[in-house]
Amino acid sequence: MTPGSGDAADGAAAPGRPRPRHVYVHVPFCARRCTYCDFAIAVRREVPAGEYIAAIAGELGTRFAGGDAWYADTLYLGGGTPSRLGADGIRRLMDVLRARITPAPDAEVTIEANPDDVTPAAIAAWRAAGVTRLSLGAQSFDPGALAWMHRTHTADQIAEAVGIARNGGIASLSLDLIFALPESVPRSWSSDLEAALALGPDHLSLYGLTVEGSTPLGRWVARGAVTAATDDRYAQDYLAAHAALSAAGFEHYEVSSFAKPGARSRHNSGYWSGAAYAGLGPGAHEFDGDVRRWNIGAYTAWAQRALRGEDPLGDREILTDGNRVSERLYLELRTAAGTVLDGVADARVEQLVRPWVEAGWARLESGGARLSLTVEGWLRLDELVPMLANPGSRY
Ligand code: SF4
Repeated sequence: MTPGSGDAADGAAAPGRPRPRHVYVHVPFCARRCTYCDFAIAVRREVPAGEYIAAIAGELGTRFAGGDAWYADTLYLGGGTPSRLGADGIRRLMDVLRARITPAPDAEVTIEANPDDVTPAAIAAWRAAGVTRLSLGAQSFDPGALAWMHRTHTADQIAEAVGIARNGGIASLSLDLIFALPESVPRSWSSDLEAALALGPDHLSLYGLTVEGSTPLGRWVARGAVTAATDDRYAQDYLAAHAALSAAGFEHYEVSSFAKPGARSRHNSGYWSGAAYAGLGPGAHEFDGDVRRWNIGAYTAWAQRALRGEDPLGDREILTDGNRVSERLYLELRTAAGTVLDGVADARVEQLVRPWVEAGWARLESGGARLSLTVEGWLRLDELVPMLANPGSRY
């Protein structure tokens, strides 16, 4: 690790290295903070869209000046809540991005949205700006659970948003849901899954609730006002979702991700395959194949640096060989395709993996060269990777 330096060259592609084909843009604004959220966000009643878009233009100009034409296969506007930029804000942001980056003709361009921001005018503007995919933060359809999470939308607004998006020509639509809520929160997970399926999404992302100390939820748990869900409850919800969504024709193609055939997230699949990606905006991470860097997380500090024409670098990390092995294992084993074990003939690797196969947590295919995890194995991913990444193994 090295401290942030403001060196404008940090974001420049190394000589001969092409620009990343995947681009993430962090839009940090939220109307309020959800009880469980510890993301790099900026709570704003009025979104400073003009300042933010100018700062993105500044960061692009400083860190990615010159060089060859830059083509992207995927663009992902994540947050925060990108939809809070509204119809005109997204149009202007996309204009700024397109001045430097040319999306491929079949590019996947995703915007994350909260249901209460989805209007016919917004969808029409986003589509005209090139958006092809909508990722809607639903989280639950239970009014009590939504209120407990401090979400800004109602259950009815989720269904309305899906209808508006479909009528407006959004062909690829994903819903986010949260499972493993505390027992004290009145919510039926199976009912939420049914409600989500009834809306006909192409993709679902499911996240187990985690308790982070810095969040309102973390403070409630610390003072004993709320008890977090047990590991058993987490596993029960996760396995129930796998069963229900598989029966409904979804491929469980990554730990947290389910897609109808042909509807996998190409952007996220890039992350899991270890592809290089660029990251713009406060707190955004970037990876060029060797170096991971991330921007300052605080919105104001990021914007000031970017607007002054300085690199808003927060920190950077050069991956060691050991980092690379564990990262590759961790990312690839998240996917249904798994990873290639070139050290499978090694008795130590064999010894590690065999019990997992016998327990039904893992599969060895291609003559033992390819390892993938079952859904039960994904519940134990964090146990397996450190063992396999042991420097003594031949992986
Ligand atoms: S909308 Fe998303 S990013 Fe914003 S506070 Fe809620 S969980 Fe966090």
